[in-house]
Amino acid sequence: MRVTRISIALEQRLGDNDYGSERAQVEYTADLLASDDVIDCTTELLQFARGTIFHTLSESKTRAIRRKVNPAPRLCNECKQPLGDDNDGYYHEACENVMLERRKLEDQERRAKYEAERKEREAEYRRERELAGVGSDDDDDEDLPL
Ligand SMILES: [Zn+2]
Repeated sequence: MRVTRISIALEQRLGDNDYGSERAQVEYTADLLASDDVIDCTTELLQFARGTIFHTLSESKTRAIRRKVNPAPRLCNECKQPLGDDNDGYYHEACENVMLERRKLEDQERRAKYEAERKEREAEYRRERELAGVGSDDDDDEDLPL
């Protein structure tokens, strides 16, 4: 058997986020020569159809349609490189580990700084009490009224 004709139909409908939609549809048929490769020709025809649909919808007067036709690439929040289609998150796995490690260190620094400030306040409080002559904690009853 020899394939002598291929026919493809492609359709894309995009919602305009306002209860409407726009649709682009193409149907192509090509007669093949004996020397043509069926797979190559089909691939080429599909690419042509996709290009036509993309071009048609990207010329829409509606901004939402134009944005859906040509969405901004999804980039990793850490390295700013594209995320693959199998990644539903916001980071590459390795990048997420880098980010989590950095957050952990930032958290440790924040806690250390807070602890240092707390000790500083505590020391200040003790100095003020010593200057005021109270709370020397030696239990010699000097603060008690006689
Ligand atoms: Zn990344």
